[in-house]
Amino acid sequence: MLTITDLKMHFQSKAHTVRAVDGVSFHINAGETLGLVGESGCGKSTLGRCILRLYEPTSGKIGFQNQDITHLSMHAMRPIRRHLQIIFQDPYASLNPRMTIGNIIGEALQIHNLFIEKKTRQERIQELISTVGLRPESISRYPHEFSGGQRQRIGIARALAVQPQFIVCDEPVSALDVSIQAQIVNLLQDLQERLKLTYLFIAHDLMIVKHISTRIAVMYLGNLAEIGPSKELYEDPKHPYTKALLSAVPIPDPTHPRSRIKLTGEIPSPINPPSGCKFHTRCPYVMPVCSQIEPPLTALGKNRQVACHLYSSG
Ligand code: SF4
Repeated sequence: MLTITDLKMHFQSKAHTVRAVDGVSFHINAGETLGLVGESGCGKSTLGRCILRLYEPTSGKIGFQNQDITHLSMHAMRPIRRHLQIIFQDPYASLNPRMTIGNIIGEALQIHNLFIEKKTRQERIQELISTVGLRPESISRYPHEFSGGQRQRIGIARALAVQPQFIVCDEPVSALDVSIQAQIVNLLQDLQERLKLTYLFIAHDLMIVKHISTRIAVMYLGNLAEIGPSKELYEDPKHPYTKALLSAVPIPDPTHPRSRIKLTGEIPSPINPPSGCKFHTRCPYVMPVCSQIEPPLTALGKNRQVACHLYSSG
């Protein structure tokens, strides 16, 4: 459904260049969820926005349904944009406080000229409200009258309104209480099955993406460190960064304790990233070659790719 090839998003200012996304390639199959994980500032949200063409990428290619959409004009993007939607991290900030829920959802339909008749539009809005588990009377209420979890349900209804095929879920549960997070993840999973949706699910926590993801991509400072099927990646992480992220996740089985790999220091700045492997300043397995040569993303078996000299054939 979606193919990203060597995508770069560099933000240029007078003084410096921020290499937010620095050459990322992957594909997402129809109906699957690719979990995209990494610390704050690693470029994952920027990557999500580039895919939707909310940012104009510096270079690389975005293919959607076998069509190159990288350089399509805003006009040419219009019919395609309907199929590419986003659910934001902060549902409150993304909802207009002066609009009723009915109008917020109806606005998306209006922009794309869907359900033009007033009666069918109202029916569609009611249907969406019930699909995401809200009460029918929500239609005439305002965002401030809802809890965080309910607001996220409204954000989901708005994204679903235009019958998209692909949704970027940009940290959709990070701002919610832990008790509510599972409800929203379950709702997204349920909707995926019912509506045959494809997701890019962005999160900084590996535990959140574990159950919803078919495959997982781990991102570090603008590049992919590792990508592979969810189960394999959790059971046998290859990249030292993935190992460190996973070792920080508590496991329910105390008979299989996992030794904690502590990452030292903060993620370096994308303005002046480390040479060679960008993870070398924090990697417990660092070797002399690591600061000199950037490891390419290399196939490890059928569905697995890792960018680390520990697995390079040369
Ligand atoms: Fe660590 Fe070197 Fe692998 Fe980078 S290439 S993750 S520094 S071992």
